Amino acid sequence: MTRNVQEYQLYLTVDMEKTDNYRHKGLRKKLIETIRSKGIRDEAVMEALGKVPRHLFMDSGFINFSYTDKAFPIAAGQTISQPYTVAFQTELLEVRPHLKVLEVGTGSGYQTAVLLELGARVYTIERQRQLFLDAQKTLGHLNYKPLFFYGDGYEGLPAYAPFDRILVTAAAPEVPRSLLDQLSEGGILVLPEGDRFGQKMIRVVRETADHFERSEHGYFSFVPLLRGKNK
Ligand code: SAH
Repeated sequence: MTRNVQEYQLYLTVDMEKTDNYRHKGLRKKLIETIRSKGIRDEAVMEALGKVPRHLFMDSGFINFSYTDKAFPIAAGQTISQPYTVAFQTELLEVRPHLKVLEVGTGSGYQTAVLLELGARVYTIERQRQLFLDAQKTLGHLNYKPLFFYGDGYEGLPAYAPFDRILVTAAAPEVPRSLLDQLSEGGILVLPEGDRFGQKMIRVVRETADHFERSEHGYFSFVPLLRGKNK
């Protein structure tokens, strides 16, 4: 009997964590204040972060830390980005409703959800099969509907180009030419450039067909953008 009660309580706790309740919403508000204090200004970005239940994108072992401003491990040796970093990249990307956005590195799907909350049409690509499958489950469960692709984001998605925005959430030694080619005129690409010893956030605006304006926006730390896809 006692055992059953304990099991029931455990079940309740787990189930609570699978929903989004007032406690989670409160924690998100605090997280957003932290991000604001670190210099993010775009209210639409903050509002989007306020809507996405980050705890549902986390590995169960770290769920209690979902609303701390830190990156955490997910499957396949990858990470769910730090909320501040997600906000920073999203702000630089200037996402507006209906824009066509390519996201390279679906990972947990958290950043994907933020882009969708901003009203973008999102094409997201992941090279790790397990993450590609997990993210579809998580996002599907929450009724988010990006287009999912399993493949090498280095190549982008030529069949679906051009994109108004391209967001890369893993670090590359340089901006891949293939991605620049898939950017529409007036489009913006954001990517962390560098190796494991240091990465700079890069923003490229395609002013005209053959003129690209590049700017740098501080130092970050990402997992590497790798070639090919992984089963
Ligand atoms: N935005 C994600 C970040 C995940 S980390 C989140 O917040 O959860 C970066 C992701 O990029 C990893 O899942 C990694 O597998 C993926 N990745 C690395 N190289 C890639 C490539 N060439 N194509 C597609 N995805 C890639």
